[in-house]
Amino acid sequence: MLRSPIRALALSILLPVLAALPAMADSIDETPAKILFGDVTTPSPLAPRAIGSYAKGCLAGAVALPVNGPDWQAMRLSRNRNWGTPELIAFTEKLAHDAKRQDGWPGLLVGDMGQPRGGPARTGHASHQIGLDVDIWLTRMPNRLLSRDEREKLAATSMVNEKERVIDRSVWSAGQHKLIRRAALDPRVARIFVNPAIKKALCEEARGDRGWLNKVRPWWGHTYHFHVRLDCPAGMASCIPQKAPPPGDGCGPELDAWLQPPKPPKTPPKPTKPTVKPRPMLLADLPPACRQVLTGAPAAPEAEPAAAMSYDGAPPADVENPSDEPVTGTLH
Ligand SMILES: [Zn+2]
Repeated sequence: MLRSPIRALALSILLPVLAALPAMADSIDETPAKILFGDVTTPSPLAPRAIGSYAKGCLAGAVALPVNGPDWQAMRLSRNRNWGTPELIAFTEKLAHDAKRQDGWPGLLVGDMGQPRGGPARTGHASHQIGLDVDIWLTRMPNRLLSRDEREKLAATSMVNEKERVIDRSVWSAGQHKLIRRAALDPRVARIFVNPAIKKALCEEARGDRGWLNKVRPWWGHTYHFHVRLDCPAGMASCIPQKAPPPGDGCGPELDAWLQPPKPPKTPPKPTKPTVKPRPMLLADLPPACRQVLTGAPAAPEAEPAAAMSYDGAPPADVENPSDEPVTGTLH
């Protein structure tokens, strides 16, 4: 069939064009939002603004956490997720500074914050979308500057014996306790997510005022890092807040329920319908202002603020869920 050199030549020119056709048909309205936002490498040149809710939104005018600071180092630089609101950058730098000066913590290893324009990410999280979430490693910062390569490869230390669902006392210390407590005491913080075994250790060890434990919430995973979520900055109407955590220190039966051994699996019932794969989140699912954040195209001046403020009257679905990992029903 390809014996004729002319036909072969024609096909060699045409095939790449044909292969590109489906991609051309994919408008930004059909491409999953995590691809669109994951591909952008720079922030939008707009005033800083968290838009939408923690697991369904985007970030205008993001600021980068410098990858090296006096008291911190950003990790996994290839992910380009050291972006946030100015409030998140200021919080992280202050925590690093205060923890070192006042608690003797050697410095923060900072994991994921947000993407340059926020939004959903290709991997790792459902939240971290509006520049108000940061993952902070529970591993101490080494007393030297890590190379770029080391920041990709250095393994974090798990603080939890996951089989026994208890804290691993060979690595957990007062240092991690003080660091989480210091973060929780910052009035800008809305919630901190940790593994239930870590919450249990904090509950058992806390002395004096226990009010800060209210913000520390148990969730799957979070054995290597804790996840800090800031409140919406004051007056930022485009940012959709969460409800405050329920009152109390959260050290009672709810926490114990997390730490129960898993029930033996039931025989799954025969599926009656084929499982439908959930549709990926699209740009149209995000607040309308996120289109401008992504594309830079100016939004209609009279429509944009109203759209941003009236977005999604329903309460945000991630009230408790940091959605760092898919829910598996286990404490991985
Ligand atoms: Zn996180």
